[in-house]
Amino acid sequence: MEVRLLRYTHDGVNLVAEASKITTDENLGENEKVFEMLVNNDYGSALEHMVFTFELKDISIALSRELLEHRIASHTARSTRYCDESSLSYHIPENILKKYGRRGEDIYRSVVEDAIQNYSKLYDALLEMGYSRKDAREVARYALPMARHTTYIWTVNLRSLINFLGLRLCVRSAPEMRELAEKVRKCVSEVYPALKKIGCRGVNLGVCPENEARPKECPYRDKIPTKNEVRALR
Ligand SMILES: Cc1cc2nc3c(=O)[nH]c(=O)nc-3n(C[C@H](O)[C@H](O)[C@H](O)COP(=O)(O)OP(=O)(O)OC[C@H]3O[C@@H](n4cnc5c(N)ncnc54)[C@H](O)[C@@H]3O)c2cc1C
Repeated sequence: MEVRLLRYTHDGVNLVAEASKITTDENLGENEKVFEMLVNNDYGSALEHMVFTFELKDISIALSRELLEHRIASHTARSTRYCDESSLSYHIPENILKKYGRRGEDIYRSVVEDAIQNYSKLYDALLEMGYSRKDAREVARYALPMARHTTYIWTVNLRSLINFLGLRLCVRSAPEMRELAEKVRKCVSEVYPALKKIGCRGVNLGVCPENEARPKECPYRDKIPTKNEVRALR
């Protein structure tokens, strides 16, 4: 997977801080401090003025479906109707090699490659039957495995991005999605270092909303309480 920041709001710290300053006659102070306060205190709407556009290369179709669940963003994906999908690469889940070794990976690869060959077989058969290339792709794509790689352009504002990172940096998130979230955070932190400290929802809120669903591998188990643990203190 390759994640590239294509465009972003320049001078975003000042833009967001200036937007927030029109809401009050009080002197809020330096723009950088105001920006950090807005991110930290979750005062969301001013953060919407800051926008990022990413190119996501070689993500699986499965991941692209999950990404589309983030509705407060703009999504453009390579079309399986208008593009020939027979020669693209495919996703190999990191767990398959870690947990099941070389044999697990071999089985996985052979099943996915069979599916890709079936796509090509179906496409060729349809062309032979007289289908146009567009019509043949439109039908053959239903045989594609979700592991197939795709390319995606994703535009998201900072408020929604923080929501995305909060949900998808969580250890409960699927490994490929977590890898995407890590890479997205790295890209935005390079241009706005204050965003480096954005983490899962537990980190951002100081309390983990996952409660009993929080898995044992969560690195914050002993540092950040769950919501229910905080409620029990009342
Ligand atoms: C670990 C994990 C497992 C998941 N498993 C599943 C699953 O099994 N099946 C599944 O379908 N999804 C699943 N999801 C996706 C999840 O339910 C959300 O759809 C996804 O994370 C997008 O979150 P969002 O709605 O906050 O984001 P966005 O769609 O970007 O929305 C951002 C915010 O805008 C507001 N908002 C947006 N739309 C509306 C609306 N219509 N009404 C009211 N408020 C709105 C909400 O405050 C929302 O938090 C999973 C997510 C995670 C992190």
